[in-house]
Amino acid sequence: MQVRVIGGGLAGCEAALQLACRGFDVELYEMRPNQMTPAHRDGSLAQLVCSNSFKGMEPTSAHGLLKRELRMLGSFLLKCAEEARVPAGESLTVNRELFSQSVEKAIASASRIHLHREEVKTIEGNLPTIVAAGPLASDALADDIFAHLGGSRLHFFDAIAPVVETDSIDFDYAFYRNRWEKGETADFINCPLDKETYDEFVRRLREAESIEPRPFEKKELFEGCLPVEEMARRGEDTLRFGPMRPVGLGLGNNGKKWYSVIQLRAENKEKTLFNMVGFQTRLRYGTQKEIFTLVPALKNARFARLGAMHRNTFIESPKLLDETLRLKLEVEKASNLPPTWFAGQITGAEGYTEAVATGWYSAWNMANTLLHGKTRELPPESCIRSLLHQLVTPNEDFQPMNFNFGLLPHKQDYKKKDKKRLLAEQEEMALREWIAATPEIHSDETV
Ligand SMILES: Cc1cc2nc3c(=O)[nH]c(=O)nc-3n(C[C@H](O)[C@H](O)[C@H](O)COP(=O)(O)OP(=O)(O)OC[C@H]3O[C@@H](n4cnc5c(N)ncnc54)[C@H](O)[C@@H]3O)c2cc1C
Repeated sequence: MQVRVIGGGLAGCEAALQLACRGFDVELYEMRPNQMTPAHRDGSLAQLVCSNSFKGMEPTSAHGLLKRELRMLGSFLLKCAEEARVPAGESLTVNRELFSQSVEKAIASASRIHLHREEVKTIEGNLPTIVAAGPLASDALADDIFAHLGGSRLHFFDAIAPVVETDSIDFDYAFYRNRWEKGETADFINCPLDKETYDEFVRRLREAESIEPRPFEKKELFEGCLPVEEMARRGEDTLRFGPMRPVGLGLGNNGKKWYSVIQLRAENKEKTLFNMVGFQTRLRYGTQKEIFTLVPALKNARFARLGAMHRNTFIESPKLLDETLRLKLEVEKASNLPPTWFAGQITGAEGYTEAVATGWYSAWNMANTLLHGKTRELPPESCIRSLLHQLVTPNEDFQPMNFNFGLLPHKQDYKKKDKKRLLAEQEEMALREWIAATPEIHSDETV
């Protein structure tokens, strides 16, 4: 059976290899080098556009756990990454050229994969399709997706604010309250700074070294969404009149108004994660940690995600996709599309490992649906399913998300020191049971 995969990046290559090994003839389309994106450097497949790290390997770290899951599920790209590994402590950091070469070799030796170096301009067609065109999908394809899926359903995104794990916030220095006490439940955590701390915070932001924006990113910055360091540079009090304004939040212990306050907004239903409202930034990760932990409530903060700014195209997954990454049937039908799955960053799954993971899962679901009429979903305790659950849960302010521990189902109140270990055990047990009952999965870890 013939299928089509659009995009020879991380998600598309994983998906193509998974489909080929399940007996499908895969028409894989990659537009580079004939047509480049603003960030890729050449025509190589599965190119890492920025950092060369897939992050941690230990299962007590979120990315380590996701990697163990991918290894157990037989991910091809994870194997390629491990082959291209360079020494960098506990993280899976790779020689990016060797990594791409290893993926290209795997694709070239899969006789069922037919690689077309061609831009795809429409998601219409006769073949069941996986759309894995990434955050820098070509304009023609992005316009076509936009036209098929509806005006408000494709976002242009350029800012990520840091996300903090709730149980790492020091509530001796923070409190729950919505501004002007609006809303039925208190959904914001407030982290006050006195004048002295605020002044130091602003000074450090002004002096901090930022990552230089690429030319195409500069063009797309808009006033309503400036990086926090840029706001600090505009004036001593700019932040106090902007995202750190202290109004509507009651009085401090001394009976006076707060001097300045950083607000954190719940990132997930379970409120295990909160994002720093208005704190989009392009500071280096290490600098972000140094400066944000000056805030008394955040002095021991664990960041599930740090801030970033780059151009980023993604669909409104909660409205468009089901938990198997397939377009909802009513959307597919209304647009007269073939069976269509999405994978990679275009779904809002942020990060390299997440792109590989969604590539694996879209291919798994596509293969089962086409071969057996239905799929077998991963268990809810798994990393991939938890990430997808977050991506497709209704959310008015949908934004891309990394995999992190806060997304795993918390079945009890874990003690902080045991939490990661217990969640990792819960994930492993559920996944092993699922694999044991799924003979199609053969991986190094399970055979
Ligand atoms: C500038 C930038 C920097 C990033 N840095 C990091 C980072 O350091 N670490 C991290 O974890 N994540 C990073 N990300 C986020 C994300 O993890 C990566 O973008 C990742 O490569 C996404 O994988 P993907 O498979 O979804 O997309 P990609 O790897 O971008 O693959 C999509 C592929 O589709 C091709 N394509 C696009 N349109 C078409 C078309 N019409 N027809 C045919 N082919 C097409 C593209 O050429 C590309 O090869 C970054 C994103 C951007 C935009």
